[in-house]
Amino acid sequence: MRSQRPRCNPRSAYDCLDDPEEATGLPGNSFLICTGQQRGSTSNPHLVGDGGPEAPLPGTRLPVRSLPLPLAAGSDALRASSRPAPGRARRAALLRALGIRLVSGEGGRLEWFGCSKETPRCFGTVVGDTPAYLYEQRWTPPCCLRALRETARYVVGVLEAAGVRYWLEGGSLLGAARHGDIIPWDYDVDLGIYLEDVGNCEQLRGAEAGSVVDERGFVWEKAVEGDFFRVQYSESNHLHVDLWPFYPRNGVMTKDTWLDHRQDVEFPEHFLQPLVPLPFAGFVAQAPNNYRRFLELKFGPGVIENPEYPNPSLLSLAGSG
Ligand SMILES: [Zn+2]
Repeated sequence: MRSQRPRCNPRSAYDCLDDPEEATGLPGNSFLICTGQQRGSTSNPHLVGDGGPEAPLPGTRLPVRSLPLPLAAGSDALRASSRPAPGRARRAALLRALGIRLVSGEGGRLEWFGCSKETPRCFGTVVGDTPAYLYEQRWTPPCCLRALRETARYVVGVLEAAGVRYWLEGGSLLGAARHGDIIPWDYDVDLGIYLEDVGNCEQLRGAEAGSVVDERGFVWEKAVEGDFFRVQYSESNHLHVDLWPFYPRNGVMTKDTWLDHRQDVEFPEHFLQPLVPLPFAGFVAQAPNNYRRFLELKFGPGVIENPEYPNPSLLSLAGSG
């Protein structure tokens, strides 16, 4: 993704900071921040730098803004973490004020300014399946994606060790089918599990009785919305993986709690016989076989090529640009 750094676009949604020292009181050289609104780029608009570690999303165009900002990236004073650097705090405050969560610096050096295991996640309660950042024409903050990936990898490891059959579900399967990762505007991860396997897993058995914080700080619990499980990143950070128990009935996988989502439907068990490996979020997860047909059964024809936001009646990807 490395490319020539574009000049500041004075029509961008953010003001350009052409006079670094006046604007911030910081010394230093100019440093491009890609924060959205640049046609054709697929950078996450929370990400600063040359595109950084976020994988481009084939077939999807994201509005991206570009903003040159004086980050003093070459400043020894700001690089040296071993001595006091008043500018560092001001720079961090400025970046946070701009909604920047990640700075991709020279040599691939990453600086995080977003959420962590010790803080709340970067967005509030999701209303109508539409997280607030979508209304700001932004996608999932990279810190939140990082936490979701870590939680998903951990949960899958626990399930596999316990012998719980699981598979990627819903938007998570869609992201895996498209580009082997969480779809870049998603706010959780969904897995299906066999209900009869729940008893194999100590953490899930514990969650039946109440909320359990495991030795890694993840929180296992029954979801308040219905008869499914939820694993949260931490007690502070509620980014989560949902586990949906299904059971077979006459060759059809069904369950007892249904949400008002198009993809929340019964499906033939043969999609799970066998499960197939599929790269997802930095590891290899289990997925339904013929996952294209599975996804089209749930979301409709052509969904892999033409995905939509979770609730297009509120906010539509196709209608956003
Ligand atoms: Zn975050």
